[in-house]
Amino acid sequence: ARTPVSVTVTGAAGQIGYALLFRIASGQLLGADTPVRLRLLEIPQAVKAAEGTAMELDDCAFPLLDGVDIFDDPTQAFAGANVALLVGARPRTKGMERGDLLEANGGIFKPQGEAINAGAADDIKVLVVGNPANTNALIAQQHAPDVPAERFTAMTRLDHNRALAQLAKKAGVSVSDIKKMTIWGNHSATQYPDLFHAEIAGKNAAETVNDQDWLENTFIPTVAKRGAAIIEARGASSAASAASAAVDHVHTWVNGTAEGDWTSMAVVSDGSYGVPEGLISSFPVTTKDGKWEIVQGLDIDGFSRGRIDASVNELAEERDAVRKLGLI
Ligand code: NDP
Repeated sequence: ARTPVSVTVTGAAGQIGYALLFRIASGQLLGADTPVRLRLLEIPQAVKAAEGTAMELDDCAFPLLDGVDIFDDPTQAFAGANVALLVGARPRTKGMERGDLLEANGGIFKPQGEAINAGAADDIKVLVVGNPANTNALIAQQHAPDVPAERFTAMTRLDHNRALAQLAKKAGVSVSDIKKMTIWGNHSATQYPDLFHAEIAGKNAAETVNDQDWLENTFIPTVAKRGAAIIEARGASSAASAASAAVDHVHTWVNGTAEGDWTSMAVVSDGSYGVPEGLISSFPVTTKDGKWEIVQGLDIDGFSRGRIDASVNELAEERDAVRKLGLI
């Protein structure tokens, strides 16, 4: 049998964690021939709840699950990790300023970056889900100087999947007919879901839909504000869809994008498309052999340029704010 892959999940007792762990343990993260060992990190007051989830994981008798360990210390939780899913974060509560939010998250993602630097496996791949995900990923990355920067990513795959679903509905096609969807920028309301490079059955999506009003005034806001719409309808934030997107993100990173397609991932910018170097921003990326590459050479028209710049400017502001707070 193959050696188990160690997957560390933070915020394991939370909503997303609850939807995520069973998918990982069943083999959907890495594939049906790869055993996994789960390492759960929680804050001390949530360790008991994580133990309850671990009991349920036992009770599923997943053939690929090699074991579950629970920690309240990041150094132990990330020791030997091959994949790290950073889900736990400090949510924004009423009356909280952005600076307070960034500071609280700095207190979480700085020690986690340090712990990854100190003890994760050489092939560590990190996905940050906890918000503000892009900037939390930047904080962790900056505190892991010995880990290649490209191993730190943040999740925009849920936005990507939401965009696929909305476009499929509008065009009356299946999501599998759509290729080359892109989310640019920040995982926030400023994100830019781009239909100008997407394809439906091989034809340009924006031209096929041919409805700029829908694109600007329905499609983009629906995708960008979907999280709030789900809270409104369900009375709780999206959890299963976020977990599903996290599984997709890692699965695609490890197993590669299909020929003629790409995905969306927030990755460290090399300056492509005018995104300042070092920001963790969403791009169209292809993946192969466990490595991602930003798709090059796309034409960006004035409309897209404005949208990308607005989201990237927000990321630059968040980076400046965490710098000012001494978090990076
Ligand atoms: P969830 O599991 O619902 O969400 C966790 C994080 O994912 C939040 O930051 C949330 O952001 C974010 N997120 C990103 N995308 C989405 C999306 N599409 N839909 C919903 N959430 C999204 O939160 P819970 O409060 O249920 O659980 C969090 C757990 O994390 C708790 O058990 C807590 O104890 C733990 N925690 C662990 C830490 C650690 O291990 N060191 C540190 C901090 C917390 P948003 O808030 O913006 O929705």
